[in-house]
Amino acid sequence: MTLAKDHYAIVGGGMLGLALAWRLSGMGHRVTVLEAADHLGGLADAWKLGDITWDRHYHVTLLSDSYIRAILKELDLDDQMQWVQTRTGFYVDGRHYSMSSSLEFLQFPPLGLIDKFRLGWTIFKASRIKDWKSLEQIPVADWLRRLSGRRTFEKIWLPLLKAKLGEAYKETSAAFIWATIARMYAARRTGLKKEMFGYLPGGYARLLARFEERLIERGVTICTNAAVRHVTRQDDGKLQVMLHDGSHDSFDRVVITAPANIAARIAPQLEPEETSRLNGVKYLGIVCASLLTSQPLGPYYVTNITDDWVPYTGVIEMTALVDPQEFGGRSLIYLPKYAAADDPVFSKSDEEIKQTCLAALARMYSHFRPEDSVLAFRVSRVKQVFALSTLGYSTRVPPVITSVPGLSIVTSAQIVNGTLNVNETVRLAEESLPLVTTPLVGRGSLVGRGSPDPALSHHETHRQLVTRP
Ligand SMILES: Cc1cc2nc3c(=O)[nH]c(=O)nc-3n(C[C@H](O)[C@H](O)[C@H](O)COP(=O)(O)OP(=O)(O)OC[C@H]3O[C@@H](n4cnc5c(N)ncnc54)[C@H](O)[C@@H]3O)c2cc1C
Repeated sequence: MTLAKDHYAIVGGGMLGLALAWRLSGMGHRVTVLEAADHLGGLADAWKLGDITWDRHYHVTLLSDSYIRAILKELDLDDQMQWVQTRTGFYVDGRHYSMSSSLEFLQFPPLGLIDKFRLGWTIFKASRIKDWKSLEQIPVADWLRRLSGRRTFEKIWLPLLKAKLGEAYKETSAAFIWATIARMYAARRTGLKKEMFGYLPGGYARLLARFEERLIERGVTICTNAAVRHVTRQDDGKLQVMLHDGSHDSFDRVVITAPANIAARIAPQLEPEETSRLNGVKYLGIVCASLLTSQPLGPYYVTNITDDWVPYTGVIEMTALVDPQEFGGRSLIYLPKYAAADDPVFSKSDEEIKQTCLAALARMYSHFRPEDSVLAFRVSRVKQVFALSTLGYSTRVPPVITSVPGLSIVTSAQIVNGTLNVNETVRLAEESLPLVTTPLVGRGSLVGRGSPDPALSHHETHRQLVTRP
């Protein structure tokens, strides 16, 4: 006997939606991907900057990113990854410092010996913690201040927290810094304490093109310019997906991969408790400028910035990682600023952002002459990038299985004990598969709206889904 295969609609053609489509089609299901934009990729998509095509947001892969690397292998791309040892810099009190080795850390002038010891101790301690849940109840600032001391907190941690979280650091739990340190430790562990970062020649544009090609070969239907307005369950038990242009189609199952509040909006039959949980997720967004320049800025892939006059929160020099020949010998630089959706930075024009960014770069790098160096400049704005790890967040995570039979929500907001990266995204897709493929008959009523089987009550299954072993 063969089991009947379902027809799935996946709402969202970012890496999460594509990874789900890949796995579900591999299991023999019919899959249709519905993406609102005119191309695939979401946050990991590519765009044109001057005459080059590269990632709209900077992306690296770590040697330890086993989930995305498994997909790259299946797409016959993993052996083409380039692995590079990169350097990290710090910009403190108007000066650049290298922080790329233990020796450089020991020599780091902005901190005294005791402060350095306490900073090193904090990082070591975080890397040893297995029970991240105990950190979920502690504000990140309190935890770091206690371990590192007031001076190190104010000199290093506070500016870094503000850089990554804005004022939202005040409501963020210590689990956030734990997850960040865990990822960096994983990167260093694989390379004799050196950072080994990887990229695919051609960037995500190449990865996405190959992904699309292989999905189509497997029979997956990919629809771009397909913004979903509503998903509703019909009397025949099928789920009707209605697009903004009024066209519609029916599916056995639908998986929404968009941010939580969008999921709430397009699924009007959810229970009020589910909707309020989805709407309760707080996101941080980003304004990310990209520059193509004729000359490099410096030797660091990432320069962390602690001086608060700088209008961006870090400098990412892609060409400290990627061979500049990819860009005709020129340099590619990103200047991100993480901010809440209501931050005034979102209403600044490209020109305003350009002028403030270039003035700040000229102050930070004495050899940088904007008028001679900048060949292209573009700004990306996204209001919902990642869900904030607020206190006790794992108890409020939105469920995968919903009260609407056949409708699942798999969204990056369900990554509770990791940072947002493509590896965690693919991991979420893989680990949600048992839930999104649970036979409908086992989940309560097939006719009418029913609550999920208590055995699959979301909070339990979800915890299993997202918790690291
Ligand atoms: C600045 C920045 C830097 C990053 N750096 C790294 C890095 O170095 N390494 C790394 O591994 N990861 C990095 N990431 C994270 C990585 O990009 C994400 O993990 C990944 O892209 C998330 O994919 P997703 O599918 O969950 O979300 P998204 O990419 O947001 O995809 C959701 C998709 O749903 C679509 N959608 C929304 N609403 C609808 C609708 N109504 N109908 C149809 N479609 C809809 C959207 O258009 C979008 O394409 C970075 C992200 C950013 C922003």
